[in-house]
Amino acid sequence: MVKVLNTIHEDYHMHSMNYSDGMNSIDEIVQYAGKIWLKKITITDHSQFAEDQSGFAKKNRRSSINRWKNIYNDVEVSFGVEGDLIDEEGNCCFDIQGKEPEFCILSCHNEVYTWDLKNITQAYINAIHKYHDKIKFIGHMCNLSTAEHLDVEAVAKVLNQYQIPIELNCSYLNTQRMYFDKMDKLLSLIEAWVYVNSDMHTLNDFNLRQEWFDYIKEKGFME
Ligand SMILES: [Zn+2]
Ligand SMILES: [Zn+2]
Repeated sequence: MVKVLNTIHEDYHMHSMNYSDGMNSIDEIVQYAGKIWLKKITITDHSQFAEDQSGFAKKNRRSSINRWKNIYNDVEVSFGVEGDLIDEEGNCCFDIQGKEPEFCILSCHNEVYTWDLKNITQAYINAIHKYHDKIKFIGHMCNLSTAEHLDVEAVAKVLNQYQIPIELNCSYLNTQRMYFDKMDKLLSLIEAWVYVNSDMHTLNDFNLRQEWFDYIKEKGFME
């Protein structure tokens, strides 16, 4: 049975305009998070490699976040990185401007991962063997743009070996950019846990999170 590691009051995947392609500043995100009763958030902007490939600019120096404090409300705010799977050997980028946080998501983006997606299973397996100590969870697996050839059984085996959680990504669910059959299969195979996250790029994305909680309950995957 899938165990969900966060409640509706926690969200660990979101993007700001300060450090990647979100439409809101960190300050706006935090103020809105307080309004909708979030208690704990991690802002996880894209890795430096993703910026270099995709061309969106980081507006601020990463070192400036050490000076940032939540002056608005009691929401607990931390900063991570949505890291990128880079190649078939499983090399990844987890830094922003050379700085790596403690909180790293491992994701695969088709505009960033330019190798043959037919070998994506081996790429994930190699990356997980290499970086399992660093990876908090795997972001949006089974998405339409990268997972056509993903062998969920093989990946589940290595996720189980290291007890690495996967993410149920509300943005991909809401836009139907997922192989739902693959995700259902993965959910039935993993022994570890899942996070339900917004992957918000606009403030309204926060409001769509409930759907994933409903989905997994409906499917009988949740206790
Ligand atoms: Zn992503
Ligand atoms: Zn993201």
